[in-house]
Amino acid sequence: MVSARPPLTLSTPVNYAKSVGEIRALQLAALSIKTCNDLLGHFPRDYLHYADEAPVALIRVGEMATIRGTLLQTRLIRTRPRRFEALLEDPASRTPDNRDARTRCVLTWFNAFGMENKLQPGMLIRVAGKVTAYRDRFQMVNPQFEVLDESDPEHAASRSARIEPIYPASVELTTQILARIIDKNLDELLPQVDEWFPEAHLHERNLFTRREAFGKIHRPATMKDAITAKRTLAYHEFFLHQAAVAIKRFHQRHSSPAIPLRVDDRVDARIRALLPFDLTAAQNRVIDSIRKDLASTKPMNRLLQGDVGSGKTVVALYAMLAATATKSADTGPQHSDFKGHQAALMAPTEILAEQHFITLSKLLEGKKVQLALLTGSVTGQDRQRILGQLADGSIHLIVGTHSLLSESVQFNSLALVVIDEQHKFGVEQRSFLRTKPTASGIAPHTLVMTATPIPRTLAMTAFGDLDVSVIDELPPGRQPIFTKMTPTSNRPDVYSWLAKKLQSGDQCYIVVPAIDEEAPLLDPNTEAPLAEEPSGQSPAPTVERPAPPAPPPLINAVALQRELQSGPLKNFRVGLIHGRLSRETRQHIMERFRQHLIDALVATTVIEVGVDVPNAAIMIVEHADRFGLSQLHQLRGRVGRGTKQSFCILLADQKTDDAVTRVQAMVKHASGFKIAEEDLKLRGMGHLIGTAQSGRTDIRFADLLFDPILLPLSRRDAFQLIAADPRLLDPAHAHLRSVILQRFADTISLADVG
Ligand code: ADP
Ligand code: MG
Repeated sequence: MVSARPPLTLSTPVNYAKSVGEIRALQLAALSIKTCNDLLGHFPRDYLHYADEAPVALIRVGEMATIRGTLLQTRLIRTRPRRFEALLEDPASRTPDNRDARTRCVLTWFNAFGMENKLQPGMLIRVAGKVTAYRDRFQMVNPQFEVLDESDPEHAASRSARIEPIYPASVELTTQILARIIDKNLDELLPQVDEWFPEAHLHERNLFTRREAFGKIHRPATMKDAITAKRTLAYHEFFLHQAAVAIKRFHQRHSSPAIPLRVDDRVDARIRALLPFDLTAAQNRVIDSIRKDLASTKPMNRLLQGDVGSGKTVVALYAMLAATATKSADTGPQHSDFKGHQAALMAPTEILAEQHFITLSKLLEGKKVQLALLTGSVTGQDRQRILGQLADGSIHLIVGTHSLLSESVQFNSLALVVIDEQHKFGVEQRSFLRTKPTASGIAPHTLVMTATPIPRTLAMTAFGDLDVSVIDELPPGRQPIFTKMTPTSNRPDVYSWLAKKLQSGDQCYIVVPAIDEEAPLLDPNTEAPLAEEPSGQSPAPTVERPAPPAPPPLINAVALQRELQSGPLKNFRVGLIHGRLSRETRQHIMERFRQHLIDALVATTVIEVGVDVPNAAIMIVEHADRFGLSQLHQLRGRVGRGTKQSFCILLADQKTDDAVTRVQAMVKHASGFKIAEEDLKLRGMGHLIGTAQSGRTDIRFADLLFDPILLPLSRRDAFQLIAADPRLLDPAHAHLRSVILQRFADTISLADVG
């Protein structure tokens, strides 16, 4: 059919693109490619760079070479590290008059999973890499390779240098098919790419124009072009983020003043007297900064980073007590109706909020400070009473979940807001509480805490609107957690080992990804924030994702508790906790676990953040490959809180490359800092700044986040632009303005700034 196909635009659904039929369109959708724009933005994750091919007889040890040949044998060696070997023979090197010629090369891959499915004897392949010697043979270690299709004459014949993109692919949609689809449509789509900056601006920075970059990232003539293309596109993305940060900053500078709170030494001493331990040097340092911040009329905007278990809660507590115990300079004690200021602590899960509430209540026993808990489970008269007392100021400290964001929650004099585990909140939720109007129209001081420590420079960039403090020291006496990954076939051994540990008085968490058969599947990419909470007032950010393929049956909490209690752990008390239990039940179970009336607690990720039971030193994670990396790190942070040796056993089968990388990173790294770096590489920066919708965009440039030049450059450029034109009203910036608004409309505003 001679088609009357309409010309493609970037917003055209991808099923109208060339070489895309109905089935391909579905397969593309599974890779999040729905429009032509998505197709154009599906960047190669790498390139195969083939030099001119050389016969094996002519290659030399120590040099790079590209060779081709048939695989004679392959074998998988399950040692540590796992090794896959193949023997390649190049028949062209075998000549009748040169019988001594070397014709074979050993190919070795370490830790490459699934190679046995990709390469089999008899296949014709092309490999590129550095030639080394192995005994008396040639060898290439971890070479690039490409399976050649002998029936495709073009493929089988081309022996000259070329660069081939490797695309993130799926089983149905291989990188070759993707390359063909993208190549077929590229020429039609490129002219529609818009330019954000003048050509000169980009050339000065050794970058391409946007249009050039999109062309060259898919079809580079040289590797240098490919790199410049990617840097160009990353520059554009980073610039956008930084412009958004710069705009937020501008807003803050023009926002309403805060209540200045001077924490004098008497108050300081009173608070410290409540604590059962001495603060670490790092905690003291952070507290000093907080005291300075609170004393200012400029609202505090501080991000507190500290690895799991580093003792952030107590710092938050200090700040909250300081806020409530302090009279501001202009409302002295002489005002008879003065009731003190208020502080709020917001946690991402009910369990964590409940635990904070218990901790605070114990510390404040017998004190005048009035404390309350407000979560989705607090309803009816209790809720009404609390709302009333918050509004009239008779409650001083409130602990809660995102229910605190509800419009019905009004404060008398909210001086401080602490957000715990802020990375679990959507960005809207974070900024909302910060700007929550108080009766007096005054802005609260804000302290946000996270256990996702990220490199400092990056933190400044990602959270450019916040001051950053770091707790870089664990409380005394902590030991590293012994972490091990083991295949699910070892489950019986793991549980009989556990029985012995429980016998000797240990306690254990057993984490599973689902509550029961009907529970939703965990998505390691989103970490499904708040998924188990009873519906709150403010919805978690939604991310559109392709439907996952039919999942294999998961071990679920309900079934596992039954199985363990009647089987391997029948001599122990096995508990069960998950987000669908009522608040009373959950509290009761946690309290019993704390008192060691439960030995092993089967749990969903409700225990992921914050839960603190120092005697529980063992964690077993079922289906560890299902969890996100920072989630695994958070989970592991539940153990290692006392002084005895802790264990974290990750049960996982190696299903996908990503899952393996995640679980291995856990075994390799103890520090949240390293884990966060790995996580950034896997998931990008989007989940850190909360721009979930740009998650995919970010992942594509994750490696460039650590580039010493690019991010600072884009930051400088963005800040200069916003300093000169904060609302982007200059007609020359009209296009950038619309691009920024389109991307960040939910987090920034370009209007109504003072
Ligand atoms: P996180 O930073 O993960 O929120 P927590 O605040 O839950 O860590 O603290 C972890 C554990 O360490 C808690 O049991 C807490 O009581 C304890 N802790 C905190 N600070 C100190 C300290 N300075 N000395 C001893 N123990 C501490
Ligand atoms: Mg905590």
